[in-house]
Amino acid sequence: MTKTEDTKVSVLVSLFNWIQKTKPAAKKRSKFRKFLDTYCDSSDYFSALRLILSSLDRERGSYGLKESVLATCLIDALGMSRDSADALRLINWRKGGSVPNAGNFPIVAAEVLQRRQGMISGGLTIKELNDLLDRLASAENRTEKTSILSTLIKKTNAQEMKWIIMIILKDLKLGISEKSIFHEFHPDAEDLFNVTCDLKLVCEKLKDRRQRHKRQDIEVGKAVRPQLAMRVGDARAAWRKLHGKEVVVECKFDGDRIQIHKNGSEIHYFSRNFFDHSEYGHAMSNIIEQNILVDRCILDGEMLVWDTSLNRFAEFGSNQEIAKAARDGLDSDRQLCYVVFDILYVGDTSVIHQSLKERHELLQKVVKPLKGRLEILVPIRGLNTHRSPGEPCWSLIAHNVDEVEKFFKETTENRDEGIVLKDLGSKWEPSDRSGKWLKLKPEYIRAGSDLDVLIIGGYYGSGRRGGEVAQFLVALAEHPAPDTYPRRFISFCRVGTGLSDDELDAVVTKLKPYFRKYEYPKKAPPSFYQVTNNSKERPDVWIESPEKSIILSITSDIRTIRSEVFAAPYSLRFPRIDRVRYDKPWHECLDVQSFVELVHSSNGT
Ligand code: ATP
Repeated sequence: MTKTEDTKVSVLVSLFNWIQKTKPAAKKRSKFRKFLDTYCDSSDYFSALRLILSSLDRERGSYGLKESVLATCLIDALGMSRDSADALRLINWRKGGSVPNAGNFPIVAAEVLQRRQGMISGGLTIKELNDLLDRLASAENRTEKTSILSTLIKKTNAQEMKWIIMIILKDLKLGISEKSIFHEFHPDAEDLFNVTCDLKLVCEKLKDRRQRHKRQDIEVGKAVRPQLAMRVGDARAAWRKLHGKEVVVECKFDGDRIQIHKNGSEIHYFSRNFFDHSEYGHAMSNIIEQNILVDRCILDGEMLVWDTSLNRFAEFGSNQEIAKAARDGLDSDRQLCYVVFDILYVGDTSVIHQSLKERHELLQKVVKPLKGRLEILVPIRGLNTHRSPGEPCWSLIAHNVDEVEKFFKETTENRDEGIVLKDLGSKWEPSDRSGKWLKLKPEYIRAGSDLDVLIIGGYYGSGRRGGEVAQFLVALAEHPAPDTYPRRFISFCRVGTGLSDDELDAVVTKLKPYFRKYEYPKKAPPSFYQVTNNSKERPDVWIESPEKSIILSITSDIRTIRSEVFAAPYSLRFPRIDRVRYDKPWHECLDVQSFVELVHSSNGT
């Protein structure tokens, strides 16, 4: 057994507790370093790191345990009656009105566990925990999962179980970014992870912090973190950003980003979060084997559904269903279609360092398109050149901004998601969102659903919602420096309509533990919020810190108003909440600069 494996889970839990409540980031990092140096073996950092960065570990399969299933398994593991007060608390963890911590499953679970487990640690080691988690991931049914959870409960106290639940849910909320953890671990860790998506390999190769690692290239069979697109407000802004470059504009397809790795007859379908979606194999692997003319390659593209009766792509959302229908041999008008827009590896060579133009040429040599099943996205030179009469043009080289505008207009009239502009001279860079790819989306397609703003405060309602927060003060982020999270949030507007009562309840319940009374003028709001002194803006409560908050997608009458009430230069007329983005982390909030660009584009300036 390694020193890491022999370390007690209680030590790891103290580290977690300490990191979570300590500021600033540098202190969090040095504590993490101390833990590595004191309690881990350099030959085995992985046993601990896979627990700390649990969302990145792909050595273990998925647990198949989201909060609701976990709740029923815990109830059974604790031998509680399903209608006991504690069981109902677990089942209704999101609700609970004034119950503190409602909406935070691990804390609710810890409270329930505390009444049964007591404070004494059961002395579980990291090895034992990893073994039990392995068994949990491979357990075939709920009964087995319940019995493993019951073993875990016997060997831990409530504090430890709380963190284990967070590990299972793959969200530790430590308040330290994955980037910082990687950086503290080894200066080359993030780079190596980006091209391998393999945490174990990173831990094994980068044992010694002082020894630099030669930049590694991508390999067939190892997922690569995808290159991403930066959002721009309008065609002019995009054109300015790519000034002097040779530019291709492409239709932005609305499907699943999938990287296909082909090695002979072994084919992998890696998602954006590097899960291997083998379910696509039934529908796609024959097509790939027959129409990809090389033995080994990596393709980058979007998996979509093609409707053979309508002769066009179907609305997003049915990929998994179609994959299942293909597996079960069911007949359908719909089929999976992979649109390849890039190639990263051919034969035994990585080609990400070649220009996009060169990669397009390779793509044409390597992929034999098959209508409605396997399409390639390479530019057609000149406007109005359709592939054949009546077929839309998905990609072209643009020579001036008017051509970009025209393509954008045509694409959006077609109800597509928008367009992506790419520098034809650029190489493909893992995990890059620095602007080599730009995305441009029309406002009206989703009625502005892309105004993703952060809740920073709440206003009490009246009548039915008296005494409860019923409206939110939302903010835009200050434009962050490259590769960092935003540090300040700038008040933007007040919004309350758009959600159902239940949806509103869920948000309020989730945020309630972090509400802090606004004590004007005794106490200034937290320094990471930029607000005005205007009494119309002043909320009743603040959210304790941005990391604890939630993103809302808001829509409005596109027109904006110059704002004096709020700190951002513009605010919205008639804002409405379109949906709650539980899936977006706080730092992916829209920034002021991008918003101002949007305003200028919709005002035609
Ligand atoms: P969004 O929510 O706008 O799709 P995102 O955050 O998921 O954005 P971005 O990096 O901003 O991802 O946009 C790039 C995504 O757009 C890719 O991950 C891919 O799934 C999709 N996409 C569709 N068509 C293209 C294309 N032609 N080129 C590149 N990406 C494309």
